[in-house]
Amino acid sequence: MKVKITETILRDAHQSLIATRMRSRDMLPIVDKLDEVGYYSLEMWGGATFDSSIRYLNEDPWERLRELKKHMKETPAQMLLRGQNLVGYKHYSDDVVEKFVKKAYENGIDIFRVFDAVNDIRNMEKAITVAKKEGAHVQGAIAYTISPVHTIDKYVELATSFAELGCDSLCIKDMAGLISPQQAYDLVKALKTEVNLPVDLHAHCTSGMAPMSYTAACRAGVDVLDTALSPFAWGTSQPPTESIVAALAETKRATGLDLELISEISDYFKGIKEQYRCILDPISEQIDTNVLLYQVPGGMLSNLVSQLKEQNALDKFKDVLHEMPKVRAELGYPPLVTPTSQIVGTQAVLNVLMGERYKVIPKEVKDYVRGLYGRPPKKISAEIIAKIIGDEEPITCRPADLLKPEYERMKKEAEDMGIIHKEEDILTYILYPAIAPAFLKGELEEEDLTPIMEKKHPCATADVSGIPTEYSVEVDGEIFNVKVNPVGGSVKVVEEGAGEGEKPSADSLAGAVTSHMQGMILSVKAKVGDIIEEGDTVCVIEAMKMENAIHAPHGGTVKAILIAEGDAVKSGDVLMSIE
Ligand code: MN
Repeated sequence: MKVKITETILRDAHQSLIATRMRSRDMLPIVDKLDEVGYYSLEMWGGATFDSSIRYLNEDPWERLRELKKHMKETPAQMLLRGQNLVGYKHYSDDVVEKFVKKAYENGIDIFRVFDAVNDIRNMEKAITVAKKEGAHVQGAIAYTISPVHTIDKYVELATSFAELGCDSLCIKDMAGLISPQQAYDLVKALKTEVNLPVDLHAHCTSGMAPMSYTAACRAGVDVLDTALSPFAWGTSQPPTESIVAALAETKRATGLDLELISEISDYFKGIKEQYRCILDPISEQIDTNVLLYQVPGGMLSNLVSQLKEQNALDKFKDVLHEMPKVRAELGYPPLVTPTSQIVGTQAVLNVLMGERYKVIPKEVKDYVRGLYGRPPKKISAEIIAKIIGDEEPITCRPADLLKPEYERMKKEAEDMGIIHKEEDILTYILYPAIAPAFLKGELEEEDLTPIMEKKHPCATADVSGIPTEYSVEVDGEIFNVKVNPVGGSVKVVEEGAGEGEKPSADSLAGAVTSHMQGMILSVKAKVGDIIEEGDTVCVIEAMKMENAIHAPHGGTVKAILIAEGDAVKSGDVLMSIE
């Protein structure tokens, strides 16, 4: 029987290789041709495409969906949905999940691939039920990982729950490229035998094994394979469509797709790739077996490596590499995928860079340990729980049951801001309240590709001791700049440009509270005149996609606040004074 192909060129391929930066204008001229190929589906929405569109591209993700859909007469439109997280990084209330799934369906999504970072079915059931009710095809995705607690029986158990919820097909989502040919064979075989649903294998070439695993999966009876057209294949992306089509052509599992037509489309994307050449990290195109040794997802820390190399401080890199699996094990072996990859990755980087484990703990890590992201695959030890959340008890219920309906409240909030032009804008705002207003007001400018390149290769700055203090960290294809302040020494004085906006330095302001990271002020939790105790949260900074609480280093009265919500701050910037 034919193997069907899901083409990922419009979503995962560019998310994996060029940080989700492909513009709609580069997709639209070729969609008619893509539609002719006879793919099982075209993955073209969801994942990071929503975030990237309104953060960097000044593009309306809903508009992209509708425009692409117009050209897709034959091929189903597929999206990746992060369960209760939708296309964001946190759980949304059920009413928001319902509205979002309905709107996505209404705007053209035919196939919803639904996954949850910790494989907790309770985090997927709402989205699955709503999409089913709308009439969509729902694919239940298993976030594939390797750990002492991830067994074939566990995966079959999850697949059975998908079937019970009415899912139409299953997906093995091997986001880190871990699956070996034997594992692929065994898992596909088990799913085909135990659960009566078509099986799709989605893998990444990170470790180099994916094409072999695909052929093994074919022998085990896999129904669909995910591939990317060759200009955006290999490396941290999918196996190349052309090669898989050619490799299967002489077998019983031949795809029946026209290699000539596919090659013609590929030529188009060769040209497109050149436009994005400057942001294509050569490391993400390389085979990386660290993924097998340390479970570090493709390209995640590649930029850190080059930074540390320049500084002749590669010993730090090894530390981070060894810290990753340690943190992952301590957190109960979550599969590393959004948002758990950020949760584990950020904590591991902070543990090493801060010189003390769990000295700085982002809010998301605390929430994860509280159980707010779902049940960790393995129970977290009491010792780690105490280290991260003190004597708080983790929850045992379905996380979204604790969330109050938020659609109407946030709708009103957005309407009062005057930023709503269509119903979908409400969802855009609810998903990204910090960045959506600028986009919806038309104040966002499309990112220029050159500065990203500079950001990827900044001059690393070092303090006098020669130890680098600025790093850029790549998490899931996104670049984050992290600046670390020397601890215990003098606080770094930030040089501000002359003019009206001059801010006092830590030296000139009594009781200064400074930021220890670069990011954006998400909320200010204190006002002038407030009495603050040492350790109170005074503001929250969004950095590395995580919310990080800034705690008062000492108690006193708030004398001045120098920042406001939405401000960008650097490490060492004075936030407020508490005397
Ligand atoms: Mn993927």
